[in-house]
Amino acid sequence: MAAGNWKMNGLRAQGLDLARDLASRGAAAAPACEVLLCPPATLLAEIGAAIDGTPLRLGAQDCHAEVSGAHTGDVSAEMLADSGCAYVIVGHSERRADHGETDAMVNVKASAVHRAGLSAIVCVGESAAERDAGQAFAVVAGQARASLPETTTAANTVLAYEPVWAIGSGRTPSAAEVGAVHAHLRSVVAGDLRILYGGSVKADNANELMAVDGVDGALVGGASLDAESFWAIVTALDAAVAT
Ligand code: PEP
Repeated sequence: MAAGNWKMNGLRAQGLDLARDLASRGAAAAPACEVLLCPPATLLAEIGAAIDGTPLRLGAQDCHAEVSGAHTGDVSAEMLADSGCAYVIVGHSERRADHGETDAMVNVKASAVHRAGLSAIVCVGESAAERDAGQAFAVVAGQARASLPETTTAANTVLAYEPVWAIGSGRTPSAAEVGAVHAHLRSVVAGDLRILYGGSVKADNANELMAVDGVDGALVGGASLDAESFWAIVTALDAAVAT
């Protein structure tokens, strides 16, 4: 899976242009991997319509744990399903940092995603200080264990390893370091969940990162805002899966 997390970027005209460009690439190339666009909530319905009938799928960046109610400004997983989403990202490090989301909160959000019949992309990742202290394995394993709800299956959940220090920084772990963390996560999570790597995946490092053993795709931030760059990552993932 190549998932594009647009974060808080994209007004209507520009977001629709990007989605239409990617949709036409998807229709022409029929990628083997799943390609997911996660625009801001304001654009979900329109972008869902723009990519309808193409191989591209729609995802959201967060949800509330409840079905409905007095939660001003929030959006439920059921509302996201109603807007055409197939996936919801939960536990992104920016939400953990900006909104104080804990593993327990991420766990109930992921189970809300399952309740709505959608799939969750659950993010984990260590900080620079935790990596420097030799705690990366323990941190991501602890986050994964605590953030994945009992309803988790390989069909309804994808895990994303996103070292916090690599997000938006232009720095990435080495291929060997990514492989080691993915292998460790694989050993602690039940079942056969796909595990994505995220953190400064770009057109020029995608071939190397997507070829790492145990990497089942990419969660892409900055590079997903440019059709050429994002499509290069889709192509790299397809090439890695084919070999
Ligand atoms: C992300 O925010 O999930 C991410 C991986 O961002 P970037 O690709 O910009 O590092």
